[in-house]
Amino acid sequence: MATNITWHPSLSRHERNHLRGQRGFTIWLTGLSASGKSTVATALEQHLLHLGLSAYRLDGDNVRFGLNKDLGFSEKDRNENIRRIAEVAKLFADSATIVISSFISPYRADRQMARELHEQANTNSDDPIPFIEVFVDVPLAVAEQRDPKGLYKKARAGEIKDFTGITAPYEEPLDPQIRIRTHELSVEDCVAKITAWLYAQGLLSPTQKAI
Ligand code: ADP
Repeated sequence: MATNITWHPSLSRHERNHLRGQRGFTIWLTGLSASGKSTVATALEQHLLHLGLSAYRLDGDNVRFGLNKDLGFSEKDRNENIRRIAEVAKLFADSATIVISSFISPYRADRQMARELHEQANTNSDDPIPFIEVFVDVPLAVAEQRDPKGLYKKARAGEIKDFTGITAPYEEPLDPQIRIRTHELSVEDCVAKITAWLYAQGLLSPTQKAI
């Protein structure tokens, strides 16, 4: 029988972060379709993993087809989509993982709700879970010209309803922690801008640079 198990009545997030050697938090990318969220999220996830950190990306591919496959794109369904993603992100972040969420998340109120879920998760007198809003900012015309999946074309032709930027609103962040203009910066520079901010805020430690 194992004898080296120490049982605690509760395990705080602080202890979990300490034992895992990294801080859990959520990087929330928001922006138009084709703004570059998935591209930057993937490059950032890869970079953080290369630094030896635990990082995980939540995006349409692993959430919309599973947990949220019962949801469409009406305003009500988009609200519920973001609520569930925010709850999942909070749990991953609570487990000392860096979450990179990559969803259009067009409504300010939904993003605020996601932030509050994190910031109010301060049980056991733990600190709130950091929530970093990153605005992936490109003009609609650039996104529409990129159109890697041909979605804008279909939306213009009336084949997709409730399409953000065309027939559904996108409410820009008023005060994002980080803004990346993917039509002006390379993917690498976008990742560098985000990680520089994380180092400056002490969310990544300088020793993690070396790996
Ligand atoms: P989203 O996830 O926001 O819908 P994607 O990442 O799927 O956007 O698509 C963005 C498109 O823009 C891709 O074809 C990508 O190659 C291109 N792109 C060009 N420059 C950049 C950049 N600096 N950052 C991210 N994507 C870029």
